[in-house]
Amino acid sequence: MGTLDNKIALVTGGTGGIGTAICQRLAEAGAKIATTYMNEDKAKAWADKQNFSAKIVACDVSKYEDCINLKNEIETTLGPVDIVVNNAGITRDGSFKKMLPDMWDTVIKTNLDSVFNVTHQFVNDMAERGFGRVVNISSINGQKGQFGQTNYSAAKAGLHGFTMALAQEVARKGVTVNTISPGYIATEMVMAVPEEIREKIIAQIPVGRLGKPEEIASLVTYLASNDASFITGANLAANGGQHMH
Ligand code: NDP
Repeated sequence: MGTLDNKIALVTGGTGGIGTAICQRLAEAGAKIATTYMNEDKAKAWADKQNFSAKIVACDVSKYEDCINLKNEIETTLGPVDIVVNNAGITRDGSFKKMLPDMWDTVIKTNLDSVFNVTHQFVNDMAERGFGRVVNISSINGQKGQFGQTNYSAAKAGLHGFTMALAQEVARKGVTVNTISPGYIATEMVMAVPEEIREKIIAQIPVGRLGKPEEIASLVTYLASNDASFITGANLAANGGQHMH
């Protein structure tokens, strides 16, 4: 018996580095998995490689209409969603002086508006059924700020404001809403950074290494479980001690 047997989980951006690990861990715990994709070929190749089956739905999470369709597609094939992991995210870095309106808009829409667009489809039904889990993947850089990331840091900090407000609205209905703020995780993107720069990043992490996608995935799986029902509105840091507050 898995801790999430018979639960249906939606992980946005499940084809990415952290998203894949989250889908895997939730599936191992017994959940049925749905995820979004932007690029069909990439998503199909991804689905073929996984050792669990996933419902993959074309959806740009920055578009509300796409998210309405996402809900319909998942409900007609799998059923009502119990767990939403808002994980899709992008960066468009540049110092504030060089930040163009498009870089700002794209990051706010994809990383912050998306959380409204997706969660809005599911949270009322969760409250009516008396169980639900929303987990928002933020970032250490939403907690401490980061040079060159005014857009990303604003979106990721905003995410936790959303978490705290919604958590209060649905707490009595068996629905929890939490944020996870990962530090630097060894995904393809981070591993593609030149070794010399990566070493400098690692030097700032007290634990002395990058995080693993599975370490974020385990935390998501715990927050999705019944054992975590007293944890809501929290911002859980998983950053190897790089930022403490
Ligand atoms: P990846 O780039 O590997 O994955 C991002 C995923 O989001 C992809 O599946 C991508 O799909 C999807 N995505 C992007 N834009 C959209 C959109 N508009 N609609 C739907 N899906 C979209 O990133 P990571 O796995 O590294 O990051 C996952 C989350 O963790 C992000 O929110 C990120 O900000 C956060 N994070 C990551 C850290 C790290 O060190 N890696 C550290 C802290 C936080 P596609 O490829 O098809 O575009």
